[in-house]
Amino acid sequence: MLPLVALVGRPNVGKSTLFNAFTRTRDALVHDQPGVTRDRNYGVCRLDEDHPFLVVDTGGIAGEEEGLAGATARQARAAAAEADLILFVVDAREGPMDDEILSWLRKLARPTLLLINKIDGMNEDTVRSEFARYGFGEMLTVSAAHRQGLDDLLDEVVERL
Ligand code: GDP
Ligand code: MG
Repeated sequence: MLPLVALVGRPNVGKSTLFNAFTRTRDALVHDQPGVTRDRNYGVCRLDEDHPFLVVDTGGIAGEEEGLAGATARQARAAAAEADLILFVVDAREGPMDDEILSWLRKLARPTLLLINKIDGMNEDTVRSEFARYGFGEMLTVSAAHRQGLDDLLDEVVERL
């Protein structure tokens, strides 16, 4: 069994874009509308052939517990609970507004990396100071869309598996 890395976060933060970058596919639908991914989507990371791992894209946790959004969030939580490493994806452009997911992740207490996506065109220091209150010792910044920071990210992930 390959180790499993789960991408979790609010809708629209770039989880599916990251999934596609990891898997070198376009299997995950990327959309500028929140909530395109409803289910879990598994693939093999193909960026480091020496350290293969499975990555699971999730549909996003929007804070609603009813209807489709609630079912989507439950899928995401289930994927995270079975993962060896969680990538908690947040959006540099939106700033820190992930408190619900944050408190859930704290309770879950699984190995988690904070991954700040969409850093392109943003002031890195400002973004880091905004997200400092989340209390992660380390913050990784990437631009999934521009494939920036993925090598460092991969090193951090592989080190933890
Ligand atoms: P998901 O809902 O978390 O899966 O987010 P998606 O991967 O579908 O991306 C949502 C939107 O953000 C899309 O319009 C993407 O093109 C855009 N996006 C994703 N990554 C980046 C990034 O690194 N920089 C910028 N500027 N936009 C991004
Ligand atoms: Mg998605």
